[in-house]
Amino acid sequence: MQLTLWTYEGPPHVGAMRVATSMDGLHYVLHAPQGDTYADLLFTMIERRDKRPPVTYTTFQARDLGGDTADLVRTAVLEAYERFKPRAMLVGESCTAELIQDQPGSMAQGMGLPVPVVPLELPAYSRKENWGASETFYQLVRGLLAGQVPAPGSERPARDPDRRPRANLLGPSALGFHCRDDVIEISRLLESIGVDVLVVAPEGATPEDLLRIPEADFNICLYPEVARTTCKWLERSFKQPWVKTVPIGVGATREFLDEVGELAGVDVGPMKQQAASRLPWYSRSVDSTYFTGKRVFIFGDATHAVAAARISAEELGFEVVGLGTYSRELAREVRAAADRHGVEPLITDDYLEVERHVAALEPELVLGTQMERHIAKRLGIGCAVISAPFHVQDCPARYSPQMGFEGANVIFDSWVHPLTMGLEEHLLGMFREDFEFHDDAPPSHLGHAAAAEGERKAPAATTPDAGPGWDPEAEQELKKIPFFVRGKARRNTERYAAESGLERITVETLYDAKAHFGR
Ligand code: SF4
Repeated sequence: MQLTLWTYEGPPHVGAMRVATSMDGLHYVLHAPQGDTYADLLFTMIERRDKRPPVTYTTFQARDLGGDTADLVRTAVLEAYERFKPRAMLVGESCTAELIQDQPGSMAQGMGLPVPVVPLELPAYSRKENWGASETFYQLVRGLLAGQVPAPGSERPARDPDRRPRANLLGPSALGFHCRDDVIEISRLLESIGVDVLVVAPEGATPEDLLRIPEADFNICLYPEVARTTCKWLERSFKQPWVKTVPIGVGATREFLDEVGELAGVDVGPMKQQAASRLPWYSRSVDSTYFTGKRVFIFGDATHAVAAARISAEELGFEVVGLGTYSRELAREVRAAADRHGVEPLITDDYLEVERHVAALEPELVLGTQMERHIAKRLGIGCAVISAPFHVQDCPARYSPQMGFEGANVIFDSWVHPLTMGLEEHLLGMFREDFEFHDDAPPSHLGHAAAAEGERKAPAATTPDAGPGWDPEAEQELKKIPFFVRGKARRNTERYAAESGLERITVETLYDAKAHFGR
């Protein structure tokens, strides 16, 4: 175990809280010490949720350890049931409680409550938040559907041809990256090809909704970190196929449509034709040619990191120079993607290691989590956030999906704009030595009047009262500095000369000032 200031993922019971917070009619009793209530803030502060997570903590203290902590669990479960009247309950423990070995889940199951109680055993010392969310969702779905599983070997009945095909969207959850809008975007996309959405879970679902999951013709796994285990179990138990392509990016959305079309038996050709993607518009722009080959470093959860690498390389023409994830459960997918992009995969949950990689690779853009935003800021590199963990500013009020064709447009806006625009960069290189581009040149769009105005504004720095004057050779040398930093160089040199008590600025003063401020 390592002491750390930042962490990509919390302990697994935070993952369980994400599932509980996503749903209605579900309550989670967490055997945990007093300090654990901090976790409520994640939801109310980062996502601005309007209510506390539906979690009751046993909040044992040091003095309770000498007595019967199991009794605390029984009391908390009973009180939570009576107060909140949930239609299903999760009961589990946090890291410290795991050491006491009260086994709260089994204990609560034996209490004879009139609602389903799903025990959670989440090994806090070997697993983390995403695994906790995935395991909780799986145990919940499995626990509720246990009585409906068909006998082994039975066939799934064919869909009534008079009914539209229907799918479940599995995986969106509290503290997931832009999940709210992804659900809207993908539901619209499915609607446009004649597929109905039956259940969205865990976000917004009730325990009764989970009981209806098998009624859909297939499942769509929107976030493998949370729903892949459940989709696999539903496939094994209910012969329910599932869509594996995550529709982030134009290419992936088109593949997603193909996969859905095949499972639903619908023609997705027209939808692909009229896709509302702005990618062709971008690709035809002059600016896009200057982005080609921009060096990008990518780090995040596996789903978003793999998607970001594909979009970078195939849709925006960037060069992927680094790719990694903190999601150990999906490291294999990231390794495969890194292989495709010809880079070494970085699988770690140590943000200092990530920082070392970014510093060594010197990319022009970092696509990462909130952690990488800090890293990039420190290193002066443009950055866009592509994955959880994220900051409150990544929960925008406006509609901003990551998935589907509109998601690709949102991604374009948020990734490309932190970069120096290509054309801008090109013009800077082309004109930096031009005689018209100097500090005193007026903006060309203001015409001659502005030129006269510009002439009237004689360089104040050379007047006797304004401090040390410039030697003509030093002025000439100053003009060799790119115009966009020349003003700053002039001001720094004058300040340095004044502070050093010099009367004239020579070429030597110019370079001394540069060395002084560059230290
Ligand atoms: S139980 Fe674990 S998560 Fe909770 S306060 Fe203690 S160390 Fe932190």
